[in-house]
Amino acid sequence: MKLENYLLKNKKKHIIFDFDETIVKLYLDWDVFRSGIKRITSNYDRELVEKYEKEKLRGIDLMNLGIQKYGKKYWEKLIDFTLEFEKKNLSGESVNREIVKFILENSERYKMYIWSSNTLPTIENSLRRMELFERFERIVTREMYSLAKPYTDGFEVIFHDEVPDKSKILMIGDSGSDEKAAQNCRIDFYKVGYDFE
Ligand SMILES: [Mg+2]
Repeated sequence: MKLENYLLKNKKKHIIFDFDETIVKLYLDWDVFRSGIKRITSNYDRELVEKYEKEKLRGIDLMNLGIQKYGKKYWEKLIDFTLEFEKKNLSGESVNREIVKFILENSERYKMYIWSSNTLPTIENSLRRMELFERFERIVTREMYSLAKPYTDGFEVIFHDEVPDKSKILMIGDSGSDEKAAQNCRIDFYKVGYDFE
């Protein structure tokens, strides 16, 4: 179902967007990212890295497990690495035309937010280029919360003062962890169509 049609049937006031592969698709070498977080985690816990490889966990799961076990210092190392990785590795992006058009045409009608696992410099550059930066009420990036999706930490930062009526909030994303995060927040989820150019 098209997003506009979905929103005719399901009345919402707040829309939370994931960023990568939802609004744009970032060109990043995820093998480089995975080997970086493996290297950082190995210094704390070789067994955890072995579990990650044996059970074919996703990078995001390895990081969440590490943060739960080793706390702030480990988290800081991950954030520093992620900032550096995106700064050095990002080689371009393509745009999800349907979603960008929707944001441009509807930012008066809805309050819009971003909840992303990417860092602020990457997101800010990209949104400013598309003249979308000012359209968002709040932009919550990887540096601003502890556990990544599907945990609800980012959601709690978006609505740190007051959580609106949850039936009026929609989460839009591309991945299984976006969908699970929405479930954990008890809000509806809409999966984006693939229209990158
Ligand atoms: Mg995504």
